[in-house]
Amino acid sequence: MNRPEPALGNPRNTIAVLNQYRFVFQKKYGQNFLIDTHVLDKIISAAQIGPEDFVVEVGPGIGTMTQYLAYKAGRVAAIEIDKALIPILEDTLSGYDNVTILNEDVLKVDLCRLAEEENGGRPIKVVANLPYYITTPIIMGLFESHVPVESITVMVQKEVADRMRTGPGSKDYGALSLAVQYYARPDLIANVPPNCFIPRPRVGSAVVRLTRHEKPPVEAENEAYLFQLIRASFQQRRKTLVNGLNHAADVLVPKEKFEEALKKMGLTPDIRGEALTLPQFAELANLTWELQKTLHRDL
Ligand code: SAM
Repeated sequence: MNRPEPALGNPRNTIAVLNQYRFVFQKKYGQNFLIDTHVLDKIISAAQIGPEDFVVEVGPGIGTMTQYLAYKAGRVAAIEIDKALIPILEDTLSGYDNVTILNEDVLKVDLCRLAEEENGGRPIKVVANLPYYITTPIIMGLFESHVPVESITVMVQKEVADRMRTGPGSKDYGALSLAVQYYARPDLIANVPPNCFIPRPRVGSAVVRLTRHEKPPVEAENEAYLFQLIRASFQQRRKTLVNGLNHAADVLVPKEKFEEALKKMGLTPDIRGEALTLPQFAELANLTWELQKTLHRDL
């Protein structure tokens, strides 16, 4: 089948489709559709889509970016929660024989299984203009459930893009920065203003590409424990690191042992979590893991 060139993305065509189907935007689903062909071109080129790729798109909307993806990729699975969009997608994507539309909540889809069944377990690419209300669970779900993913190229809220890329010393630094940087290299592709969407979001947006590390940049004896410490450290930002950890229900190591570990690392006991780098969090986790394991076993 000869695949048609993408036609949506042009605001006039998008509005025609919306009117034809009398589509009503659902705020609860974070629906802001892209109407800028330059931005779409940038996303597709950053994701480096080619005929060998199996791409998962989260939230295809009326199929604007899906057309661009389907034009270039081997195969595309587009996961859309809003059932009102399904007949529209069936129409706008009817020219492409390499797209599967799934009417599902992405957070409930077993993406490991999808990658296994549809791509023989080989790494997939995720590309999306994300629904902003679930950006973090989507990204963390992809990483933590070990979906074989080569890269994630996504439109997110500008502030979230900043959080993903920053390090200690910035107000944006937090658990998301550390988690993203543990699993991937984040690159800013473009800043995108509200007028590139219909309806216009109230916040600025940015496209980021997360390229998965072949091996994490630090070695954690136990990954889950490392992330327990990271999450607990940022739960109460104004507390010292040790006090934050002391209040976390799942961290069993007593305060004095963390103070000892910090001393060993050459850090003061009143340091805040936001001052620690990823290698320092990993060292703290590795220094206290044996004790956490023993205490957990004795529960
Ligand atoms: N990709 C389209 C575009 O760029 O024009 C639409 C992007 S819009 C920001 C987000 C899309 O995600 C909407 O179509 C929305 O219905 C869908 N969505 C929201 N929550 C979802 C979920 N839990 N699972 C799957 N899709 C979801």
